[in-house]
Amino acid sequence: MPHAAPSPRTRARRLHEKAAYDRAVIDAILDAMPVAHVGHVVDGSPVVIPTLQWREGDRIYWHGSSASRMQKRAAGAQVCVTVTLTDGMVLARSGFEHSVNYRSVMVFGQADVVEGAEAKTAHLRAMMDQLFPGRWDALRPITEQELKATRILSLPLTEASAKISTGHATETPGDESWPVWAGVIPIRLTVGTPEGAPDLVPGMPVPEYARTYRIG
Ligand SMILES: Cc1cc2nc3c(=O)[nH]c(=O)nc-3n(C[C@H](O)[C@H](O)[C@H](O)COP(=O)(O)OP(=O)(O)OC[C@H]3O[C@@H](n4cnc5c(N)ncnc54)[C@H](O)[C@@H]3O)c2cc1C
Repeated sequence: MPHAAPSPRTRARRLHEKAAYDRAVIDAILDAMPVAHVGHVVDGSPVVIPTLQWREGDRIYWHGSSASRMQKRAAGAQVCVTVTLTDGMVLARSGFEHSVNYRSVMVFGQADVVEGAEAKTAHLRAMMDQLFPGRWDALRPITEQELKATRILSLPLTEASAKISTGHATETPGDESWPVWAGVIPIRLTVGTPEGAPDLVPGMPVPEYARTYRIG
């Protein structure tokens, strides 16, 4: 479902020219970074929990223990989920104009609970297949008990915004000649060489998805 107009909640006011509402832009950021922060209000106090998210079409999903406070209290509640990629530190000639290059998304809405063993299994498979294509079918099958112990929440991408910041600092006019270094320190996430479990079955090859895993 295309989504190119902001809602009152998602209309960026501060540096609004950096904001985007196109689903292609939003999806690309969500797909590049599985780490999300879920914000919700518990007994009048804000709580923000880091977790993993994945996207399936027009919704994002996150999962956790059915016993987790976040999973219980966020279910059916209004939440705000954010996903952030930090692309660089931006150093200006004045402290005031320092900033960060980033890509971020904020999604607002009511968190829905995924019900039913079949649906839950399908979403867990989708998560695994997005992270590590083909791995689900190679795993010891999930048990009924494990499914019961897992709650999956989801949010439609109907009220979402992206914000992207790139490039060098906007200097205060006249500061350009100030004798201090200015520029961007790029930040890239790198993935290391896979390290097999100490009790790995002998001769088990490192799968393609582990050798080629990328993030960011
Ligand atoms: C890594 C990183 C570092 C940052 N550092 C700073 C900092 O040090 N100081 C600072 O003031 N700001 C910083 N920002 C920008 C910050 O996220 C806000 O965009 C900015 O502070 C404006 O906040 P506001 O409440 O006035 O937004 P408003 O413009 O009032 O927000 C209205 C709506 O715009 C959308 N929106 C706003 N910001 C974002 C966003 N980042 N991503 C997606 N949608 C958004 C949301 O839907 C939000 O509800 C940083 C962002 C990132 C990702």
